[in-house]
Amino acid sequence: MTNALIPCPVLVAGEWRTLADAPATPVYNPSTGEVIAECPLGSAALVDEAVQAAQAAFPAWAETPAIERARLFFRYRELVERNFDRICATVSLEHGKTLAESRGGLHRGIENIEYACGVPSFLFGDTLENLARAVDCETLLQPLGVCAGITPFNFPAMVPLWMFPLAIACGNTFVLKPSEKVPLTAVLLAELLVEAGCPKGVFNLVHGGNTAVDALLTHPLVRAVSFVGSSPVAKHVYETATRHGKRVQANGGAKNYIVVMPDAEVPKTVAAITNAAFGCAGERCMAGSTAIAVGSAADRVLPALVEATRALKVGRTDRPDPQPQMGPVITARHRDRVLDLISSGERQGARLLTDGRTVRIPDAPGGFYVGATIVDGVQPGMTLAQEEVFGPVLNVVHMDDLDRAIALANASAYGNGASIFTQSGAAAREFKHRVKAGMIGINIGVPATMAMFPFTGWDSSFYGDLHIQGREAVQFYTQQKVVTTRWPVEGAGDVWKK
Ligand code: NAD
Repeated sequence: MTNALIPCPVLVAGEWRTLADAPATPVYNPSTGEVIAECPLGSAALVDEAVQAAQAAFPAWAETPAIERARLFFRYRELVERNFDRICATVSLEHGKTLAESRGGLHRGIENIEYACGVPSFLFGDTLENLARAVDCETLLQPLGVCAGITPFNFPAMVPLWMFPLAIACGNTFVLKPSEKVPLTAVLLAELLVEAGCPKGVFNLVHGGNTAVDALLTHPLVRAVSFVGSSPVAKHVYETATRHGKRVQANGGAKNYIVVMPDAEVPKTVAAITNAAFGCAGERCMAGSTAIAVGSAADRVLPALVEATRALKVGRTDRPDPQPQMGPVITARHRDRVLDLISSGERQGARLLTDGRTVRIPDAPGGFYVGATIVDGVQPGMTLAQEEVFGPVLNVVHMDDLDRAIALANASAYGNGASIFTQSGAAAREFKHRVKAGMIGINIGVPATMAMFPFTGWDSSFYGDLHIQGREAVQFYTQQKVVTTRWPVEGAGDVWKK
């Protein structure tokens, strides 16, 4: 017996709608390989309707006092908390993360809602009295208008929550286009925003692929685009949307290095690298995908790392009990790509310390599984060294000293994260000063920033000027107005004679 498909509606101007006639793409339960929903591929006309609805809602929302806009997100936060388990179950069902990983991602998302609740304090401007005689100057931070968010598959709740709460709290209206691979979590997040009292048209949800994205990037009424996804698409989004006069923040892919010094504390380093490389089945833009073992670090750390990796339980994540430590990857196609990349490493002369190609899950033979894989002796020219794998694969490279390790990390085209494990303050300082990446971890495997700090990818990991999250995001979602005022008054200066 096959289960009924889960509905996947869009939300336009406060109305839920199913797009029965639109072409659609299957949404899988990666744990079993079953199709659980059909995601409609919205047209440019649908995007236009959503943008028009957001534009119509903008004037009233922009005039709503900031404290009232913040109150929407206080209510939203409560609703998301109350529905926490339901959201996490949906994330694990359509994405394949373990429930613990879904909870972690949603906690990070909720922190972004909490940050948006503080918006009245972020929208303060500056003033300078007596800029000139009887002339005062002040800055106002005003919203932009319609903002769009385009999100990837790998954090179905967290990444949308990086965007729309703050954008809307700043007084903008919003159109979200989530990944067509994981649209169901976005539907839940939208339902709860409506329940929290979001006025019609302030938040709109469309589904789709390239056509919907390109319609957003070129629509004359869209003022700003927030994007998270792979680097080639991030670059396309940046180039297209800026050409059409929009602000853009576009986060791309990554290849993050973890340097292990000979003095690193072994158990903590092993636990951190295992999580960084294999957490979320490696489908994280902050995944630690290459460990650089400096000098004797390899002999001290690698045996324990291999042991910890072999012990990782892989399995289905679509039911609460039992839960594995690692779930499947997103699609059969992606699994095959990851398996091919592992084989390419072997063909090109690297050595597999653990081999995830043979993993079988007896109660879910149709699931999209890859076991945790450590590839030793990866050389810079190998395909595995060049491409973002986005799967549970850790490259290991051996280096004689920190200098060479930093040089290797700095040769990467990407610049999202980089970490060092050491007990030496001098080595840590040198690393943080010299390494070319935006988010640095010192004895931290996944130095992803929390809501109060910008998510500071560099180089091919980011296209734009103002990053997602934190004060940079407030700047991104607002425009400044500088008001200069002259009110000449007779007897000015008398006040000082009190
Ligand atoms: P993706 O680039 O394939 O898709 C992202 C979004 O872009 C989706 O909504 C998709 O529908 C749309 N899209 C895809 N191809 C398009 C095209 N040709 N034209 C227009 N739109 C298109 O990314 P993904 O596979 O969903 O996500 C994984 C990628 O995201 C990885 O590279 C990962 O590193 C990256 N990522 C980056 C960050 C970050 O903050 N830097 C965070 C999470 C994920």
